[in-house]
Amino acid sequence: MSARRMAMFVDYTKIHVRAGDGGDGCISFLREKYVAHGGPNGGDGGRGGHIYLAADAQMTTLLDLKMRPHFTTRRGQHGGGSNCSGRDAEDLIIKAPLGTTVSDENGELLADMTVTGQIFLAARGGRGGRGNQHFASARNKAPRKFEYGEDGEQRALILELKIIADVGLIGLPNAGKSTLLSKLTAATPKIAAYPFTTIHPNLGVMELDDGRRCTIADIPGLIEGAHKGAGLGDRFLRHIERTRILVHLVAPPDAEPQADPEYFLDSYELVNSELHAYGTELPRKPQIVCMTKTDLLTGQQILRVVRAFQERGLKLITISAHAGEGLEKLKNSIQALLLETIPADDRWE
Ligand code: GDP
Ligand code: MG
Repeated sequence: MSARRMAMFVDYTKIHVRAGDGGDGCISFLREKYVAHGGPNGGDGGRGGHIYLAADAQMTTLLDLKMRPHFTTRRGQHGGGSNCSGRDAEDLIIKAPLGTTVSDENGELLADMTVTGQIFLAARGGRGGRGNQHFASARNKAPRKFEYGEDGEQRALILELKIIADVGLIGLPNAGKSTLLSKLTAATPKIAAYPFTTIHPNLGVMELDDGRRCTIADIPGLIEGAHKGAGLGDRFLRHIERTRILVHLVAPPDAEPQADPEYFLDSYELVNSELHAYGTELPRKPQIVCMTKTDLLTGQQILRVVRAFQERGLKLITISAHAGEGLEKLKNSIQALLLETIPADDRWE
């Protein structure tokens, strides 16, 4: 597995699937020399093509599906004479990124594609109609009855991609999340010197001491009011629903690095209140609270902030992503907390 960069991340899209109709049944009668009235031998229509979605671990975005959102399959072949059944149409398998959820337009969840290769029947092809061979009876030896093929299913589906990562990085815009991700992993996220949030979540893979790996997602967009849809934030909040633990970054403000400890506590509370407002699961995720950009502060200033958090019963880990300080300590904390929260299952390789 290698660290991946999401070039163009599309985490929500609507697709339209229309499966082919079934082929019609056939009306036909046996015609042979010297046989006056041959029996009915109209064959059945073939089935229309099904449309499936399949979870693919190589795909990282819904972009392809957004660019080309319409999918159809062919209809089944009509039945023929001499009891010939029409051929079934070919099925279509659409690849979707691992972590995609599928809902209908009313928001009802239909599938959660969390296992590689997982298959979801998106639209059922129509059944073929029966030919007249099936409708002969004692009273009607020459039935002119047959069935039309069934209509293929068609519907719109809402696809959402939710990153599956072990660790989510949260914090205010500009807190240093992307920078930290680039230091902890081989990912190369865009690092901005302005407080606009990165629009694409980035994923990186961190190597642990024992050779195991965990995935870390840099979750941008936690801003005030995000849960109300005020910003892009709530679109990203859903990505952290699936992480196991959160690393909550606080950092000194650019303009005033020597800021009061209250500033750090406030920004910490602000992000947490977003988590609370969004849903029930998120606030319960274990958090490591980490102050970064300590290179901007004196030892005294750092200590004051650490103490202020301590007074609230919070252990603050201090790092400088730029200076590379404290990263090992943070890594160890992440590893330890993951071990506590993760049963030995398949997320660990
Ligand atoms: P994000 O919005 O949380 O992803 O923040 P970024 O990683 O894009 O960083 C925002 C700004 O803070 C950038 O200008 C970074 O260079 C800077 N920054 C990040 N980490 C550190 C650090 O450890 N020390 C200092 N001095 N600046 C940092
Ligand atoms: Mg960023």
